[in-house]
Amino acid sequence: MLTNKNVLSIDDSRAIRAFVSSLVSNAGARIAEAGTGTEAIDLVASEQAQGRHFDLILLDLVLPDIDGLEVLRRIRERDKDSAVVVLTGAGGVASATSAMQHGADGYVEKQYVTKVGGEPEFFYSLKQAMEHRAGYVARRQLDELRTDFYSMITHDLRNPAGTVLGLIKLLLAGKAGPLAPRQEEMLRLAQRSGEKFVSLITNYLDYSKIEAGYLKVVPAETDIASLLRSSAVQAELMAEAKNIALKLNVPPGPLRVCVDADKIEQVFDNLISNAIKYTPDHGSITVTLQQSERDVIVHVADTGAGIPKDQVGSLFTKYHRVPGSERQATGTGLGLLIVKEIVEAHRGTVSVISDGIPGHGSTFTVWLPAVVVAQSA
Ligand code: ADP
Repeated sequence: MLTNKNVLSIDDSRAIRAFVSSLVSNAGARIAEAGTGTEAIDLVASEQAQGRHFDLILLDLVLPDIDGLEVLRRIRERDKDSAVVVLTGAGGVASATSAMQHGADGYVEKQYVTKVGGEPEFFYSLKQAMEHRAGYVARRQLDELRTDFYSMITHDLRNPAGTVLGLIKLLLAGKAGPLAPRQEEMLRLAQRSGEKFVSLITNYLDYSKIEAGYLKVVPAETDIASLLRSSAVQAELMAEAKNIALKLNVPPGPLRVCVDADKIEQVFDNLISNAIKYTPDHGSITVTLQQSERDVIVHVADTGAGIPKDQVGSLFTKYHRVPGSERQATGTGLGLLIVKEIVEAHRGTVSVISDGIPGHGSTFTVWLPAVVVAQSA
């Protein structure tokens, strides 16, 4: 189990270090020793600088310079691959539990290390800890692989799709000569499908980023009123195709707040496009912006299918779609989750009100505790 493994023993007692070293080196491991927390952290850092890590670290929690738990925390900051086993005093379950919460993989009472005949328990604990860490590392690598794969696929699909849409736009603008009405009609159909396709891919891509923990909001001074107007203007084509009236209830002039413009625009795009998707032809959608000194509230109300009460709780969860939605529109069930993650990253909230009666529609409300930077008259 320890043959050729790289082991670090951290203990201020020279005698215990020597004893542990002889046990693990007899089992075939290479051993490094540290008598203080500082030495230990330096050794871990120097391994890392050479692109390596210890397979196993045995850590005494009582050290002369730095508290053992703090040493563990600092090791884990840079090294998530080494198995760490803490050495505790007799009955040190409380400190062992706390060490496990800080990223240790197991613990051994010191008395087992030094006890005659205690070796099997000692080695069993080391084995368990190493298996525990190996499981963690494997799960993390699988997650990374899945996220990379997801991003790669979605990127590779999005770029050519963007080119196709760009070319359709040029054709529709008459850049390759005038179009017959039938040609224009077919190109508009192609454009709508292309846009749907890009929005599905974008959702997958955004979600894979969120899942991998890459969602970062970078707030900056933003005119949120014009952001909302631009989302509505972009959605107009989609609304027109269904004869849906898109009403905008946004105070005139800019409203400057501190938010991440790209991300908040995505929130508006998702809510408005959902409202259009889930509202039958000839319905109406009202987008409202309200402001106070300390917050901004956006309502997106539609006259569509509404959301049954028992569905509201799971609406903002991964891949969730209200049963029957697939008959109304294509979707991934990720859009609202992305909305929620972005809004919450701004310390805001998103909620929905609907009585679930078709035609009564639903109203999604985003509340952002955005500090208003400046406001025009
Ligand atoms: P998608 O639209 O891609 O399926 P979302 O996460 O944006 O995913 O929405 C999740 C589900 O919530 C949708 O499938 C739909 O069932 C429901 N939904 C979202 N917005 C509305 C709306 N405005 N009216 C009715 N149902 C909605």
